[in-house]
Amino acid sequence: MAIKSVWIEEDCIACGTCEGICPEVFHVTDRSHVNEGVDFNDYEEGIKEAAESCPVSVIKYD
Ligand code: SF4
Repeated sequence: MAIKSVWIEEDCIACGTCEGICPEVFHVTDRSHVNEGVDFNDYEEGIKEAAESCPVSVIKYD
């Protein structure tokens, strides 16, 4: 299944885990942001791992 969009829901605690796993997609400042212009399919594994590793489960994709 191709990933068409990735987003961060409210309540991100800015722990930095997602950026540590997949810095090509996630950028954490006061909260996590999804980098623009990224072909998510190049980083499918990293996105899924980040979503599973997020301590508050706010990384979503479809
Ligand atoms: S892993 Fe989750 S809580 Fe941590 S910075 Fe990323 S989105 Fe926010």
